Amino acid sequence: MADIVLRNISKRFEAVEAVRELSLAVNDGEFLVLLGPSGAGKTTTLRLITGLEAPDAGSVMIDGRDVTHDPPGSRDIAFVFQQYSLYPHLTVYDNLAFPLRSPARRVPEPIIRKRVEQTAELLHIASKLNNRATRLSGGEMQRVAIGRALVRDPSIYLMDEPLSSLDAKLRAELRLELKRIQLELGATILYVTHDQVEAMTMASRIGVIRDGQLLQCGTPREIYESPSSSYVASRLGTPQINFLPAHLLSDVPVPPGTETVGIRTEHLQIAARNGGRMVGRVHRVEHLGEQNHVHLDYKGEMLVTLADPRQPLQSGQEVELHLVHPLCFDRAGQRVPAII
Ligand code: ADP
Ligand code: MG
Repeated sequence: MADIVLRNISKRFEAVEAVRELSLAVNDGEFLVLLGPSGAGKTTTLRLITGLEAPDAGSVMIDGRDVTHDPPGSRDIAFVFQQYSLYPHLTVYDNLAFPLRSPARRVPEPIIRKRVEQTAELLHIASKLNNRATRLSGGEMQRVAIGRALVRDPSIYLMDEPLSSLDAKLRAELRLELKRIQLELGATILYVTHDQVEAMTMASRIGVIRDGQLLQCGTPREIYESPSSSYVASRLGTPQINFLPAHLLSDVPVPPGTETVGIRTEHLQIAARNGGRMVGRVHRVEHLGEQNHVHLDYKGEMLVTLADPRQPLQSGQEVELHLVHPLCFDRAGQRVPAII
């Protein structure tokens, strides 16, 4: 069993309220992703859990034990940083063995060898064990950095944007690897990122964080389909969700109090003009290969949607808009439940 419970934790750095009354439970074996922009308080939250920072208020519980005032080393937690933080002059083997070789641990050398080899297998870097860290590619270095956390076999992993310095192809590859490893080990992971794709693909639950506050926590599907606010809605979706003042809608009923509607691209279809009342003008078509992004002008608002590349569309052309499942938000950006 390994779980983390944060109760109303707050942390201020002079004028900045980095974390504000944040409560969160990461369950045993869960892959929880905190998703938020730069400056949202993600790293501070992880540092509060490790004990590298002390909260001004609130408590941190690990496995049911209050560790708020315990020193950092006493918590059975591994931290993977954004930057690789490897020892460049050491081999991959020695980098992986390093956390086990501390005098306090006294792990016998044959056991170290076994753990290092198992970890290297798991991360598919077994053939690199004798290479110096500097001779590795970025993706291999980041695997070693993750390996250094795994080798200790901790009960909890905290990961601070570990893939953000890698290129898109490697990120996609390591996303799959991390998920596979988590499932194989049954590990409890709290992972922070600003990348919605990482959150959607790896998380068992996503917590959306902004200005030190947790806005919503739920499965990727819940967050995507039932965002609690327009801000949460805007964090997920490729390309971005469309927002439109509700009074510009025609023939689409919305509940009272709705000021703005959010329309996901898959809920906005375009068709040839055929008597419908929502008519827009194609502004620009971007070709992405398997699909096109179509930018439209509708009553002075810019909207974006997806279209099949075989659908003939030209800039300036008038088209009919068909939309379903509008997400309704009030003046403050809070979700207005749909009428059933
Ligand atoms: P994130 O990881 O989401 O980008 P951080 O937790 O690093 O955000 O930072 C949250 C806020 O707290 C930011 O405004 C940042 O500038 C501030 N902050 C973080 N650490 C410190 C510190 N040691 N001293 C002063 N301000 C800090
Ligand atoms: Mg950070």
